[in-house]
Amino acid sequence: MQADFPRVTIWHEYQHEKRNPQVSMLYPKGMHETLADGLRAAGAMTVRTATLEEPDHGLTPEVLAATDVLIWWGHMAHDAVHDDIVQRAHARVLAGMGLIVLHSAHFSKLFKRLMGTTCDLKWREADDREILWVTAPGHPILHGISDHVVLPREEMYGEHFDIPEPDETILISSFSGGEVFRSGLTWRRGMGRIFYFRPGHETYPTYHNPQVMRIIANAVQWAAPTAGAGASVFGNHKPLP
Ligand code: ZN
Repeated sequence: MQADFPRVTIWHEYQHEKRNPQVSMLYPKGMHETLADGLRAAGAMTVRTATLEEPDHGLTPEVLAATDVLIWWGHMAHDAVHDDIVQRAHARVLAGMGLIVLHSAHFSKLFKRLMGTTCDLKWREADDREILWVTAPGHPILHGISDHVVLPREEMYGEHFDIPEPDETILISSFSGGEVFRSGLTWRRGMGRIFYFRPGHETYPTYHNPQVMRIIANAVQWAAPTAGAGASVFGNHKPLP
């Protein structure tokens, strides 16, 4: 395995930071750069970023071809993402690129296309305390995490979360208001591994939390394509001798 594997691209719409001083105080260079700093500190990967306002939203065919794991954060600009870029990223997931979907990216075009459902949920911005409870001890994405993670203030997301039944539910969150939410979820689509991770509302310092970043760094390694995996063989087939 090469030293630079996996190659991570962090995609961020990068809009709230340009409009809301509360967000730019927390993430002066943008949330994508805070995520990138955290993942580079974790090591064992190479990290680049891409944002909405770059040509092709920063996701040219060359960039996506050189991406082993794509991380996606979006909220206010989901509709501004061009359908052809969504199609390009979708095809890469089916071909084996890992995808980590963060927080409000549950409503991104890419995630909704991969899930095939509304991906809708309950929400409230009211400084809820979130506790993420481990439901799959020993899962590789939870390496170094024991029992639960407390986030003193976060946005609430509540069930029902309209998604297809996940392959694995590795975290469930509870909130001050009594709601619960499946907050760490995995699926496979084609050859690609997908992880949805709930925390990360833009007005809270969630991506400065070491345990949150540990989970995302672990998820990068989990979602990376298997080295040496053979290509699928499709189409008309002769019987074996
Ligand atoms: Zn949010």
